[in-house]
Amino acid sequence: MKKIMTRNKNQNHGVPKTHPRYLSLKFRHKIIDGMKNLVVAEAGLIAHGRGECFDYIIGEKTTKTARKAIKAAVAALLIAKKPVISVNGNAAALVPEDLVKLSKLLKIPLEINIFYFKEGRIKAIKNILEKAGATDIKGTNENKMIELEGLESNRRKVDYIAKADVVMVPLEDGDRTEALKKLNKKVIAIDLNPVSRTALWADITIVDNITRAIPEMIECAMELQRLDKGELVEILNKFDNISNIKATLDLIINYIENQKEEAFKILKK
Ligand code: ATP
Repeated sequence: MKKIMTRNKNQNHGVPKTHPRYLSLKFRHKIIDGMKNLVVAEAGLIAHGRGECFDYIIGEKTTKTARKAIKAAVAALLIAKKPVISVNGNAAALVPEDLVKLSKLLKIPLEINIFYFKEGRIKAIKNILEKAGATDIKGTNENKMIELEGLESNRRKVDYIAKADVVMVPLEDGDRTEALKKLNKKVIAIDLNPVSRTALWADITIVDNITRAIPEMIECAMELQRLDKGELVEILNKFDNISNIKATLDLIINYIENQKEEAFKILKK
């Protein structure tokens, strides 16, 4: 008789790599493990589900409009004087290594910023980022934090973000994006929902899954870091966020139309 192995608490969920939804399930389990380890808030599971839903209707791939936004975002981060990448629990649970890689490549600090405060959460997120190789992590010292005006949630407490000129906010809530905009920060959002308040308030909206967007940004940064400032400014000036969001919505409409056709073929059988 085969011996049944007891599962490690955080790994080996038994999803075979051949499973058609392997990647989606893999990241789902990262979020679940993150919740068990305090990195992800309970509500983070629901936010992930909302993201999955939008991912479905963009075809679970990095679209050409997302690629355009990624290029503009990397150019903006390279030009910026004091850029920072804000990291919440979901982002840290899903792509810690990639966030660290991007932060090191662009020489940008990571700042932990969470909506739901719980004793030990900041430490848990710090640990996961350090384990992934992070050396420059802001937002870990309560005494150094200042409060953003016009915000009541825990996200009002910021460290380096207060001084930053460009803030990248993966998986942000609309209130803080609005608050950051009112403080004249340039905001880069990664959000699967193209019509969330964050997506609409941001200067550069990357409608993509963070799990694909950050690796794409790393690739793009390796190319763009060879350019001079004038060329980067040109890339940024050519980018129009409003038309890019409109084009993203058109892509979604087309994708759904195609899915309708495909579904019909199956239904008719
Ligand atoms: P807003 O306040 O900006 O209108 P919201 O209230 O929907 O947005 P949250 O509930 O904080 O914001 O949800 C987080 C957002 O992150 C959602 O828009 C969701 O689509 C998005 N999201 C979730 N998971 C991912 C992911 N893996 N990659 C990119 N975006 C994601």
